Amino acid sequence: MGVLTVAEPLIRTEGLSKTYFMGSLSVPALTDLSVTVQPGEFVAVTGPSGSGKSTFMNLLGCLDSPTSGRYVLAGDPVAELEKDELARIRNAKIGFVFQSFNLLARTSALDNVALPLLYSSTPRKERKGKAQAALEALGLADRMHHHPAQLSGGQQQRVAIARALVNQPVLLLADEPTGALDTQTGEEIMGLFERLHAGGLTILVVTHEPSVASHARRILRFRDGRLIEDVNGSGGAGPGTGDAPEQAAPRERVP
Ligand code: ADP
Ligand code: MG
Repeated sequence: MGVLTVAEPLIRTEGLSKTYFMGSLSVPALTDLSVTVQPGEFVAVTGPSGSGKSTFMNLLGCLDSPTSGRYVLAGDPVAELEKDELARIRNAKIGFVFQSFNLLARTSALDNVALPLLYSSTPRKERKGKAQAALEALGLADRMHHHPAQLSGGQQQRVAIARALVNQPVLLLADEPTGALDTQTGEEIMGLFERLHAGGLTILVVTHEPSVASHARRILRFRDGRLIEDVNGSGGAGPGTGDAPEQAAPRERVP
């Protein structure tokens, strides 16, 4: 605490905005978002439904492109890249976990986890070994040949996390990963994220449950497409900013 961080941020957004156009209607989903995240941070993203959390995560995850603004991921100016290049970066650097797991239904846990390796043109034999190791690390050694329907919700989410980790990403993004799970199973998943964080992984988790957010070290609070609060942010603000008024303007982040 109080020590100036000089490391290059893993994530830097400047004035990042996303507007959806639907006929004559324009929906500003995310407005002027400037934020940095350092390597190894564990961040919760919270806010009411429709406040832009998923839009933010999809932009960070290179699943979508901004309408305006900059996004630099590990030195790469992502917002300016073409689709192919974006897909390559996504596959190499980012793991994504969703509320509804998004596993292929007719495919074994092993093959679900091996899928991202197919896109990174890993040799077949290596794919199996890596997928196996990822599942074993998540306590699923005895579930490799099960299909999603034969697994509990918590197990399915662990398969999805194994899939997100199999390419050894630098960034793990999770959009309401506990939203479809009971409280205890959700706690187990968050415990798992804590372990991954302790191992040095950078993690951002969307949640609207305070108990889930409490696992993170920093909280970004959204409302109406804007960042309204950054609790324990790396921009020099220490603990105590949690008391900042909810209407506070997004803080300028000085490196
Ligand atoms: P959250 O994840 O916080 O619930 P979202 O990022 O999904 O919020 O949505 C932010 C706003 O953008 C909402 O008003 C939503 O209706 C709108 N929105 C999200 N995705 C789309 C889309 N594909 N097309 C049009 N509007 C969208
Ligand atoms: Mg959402």
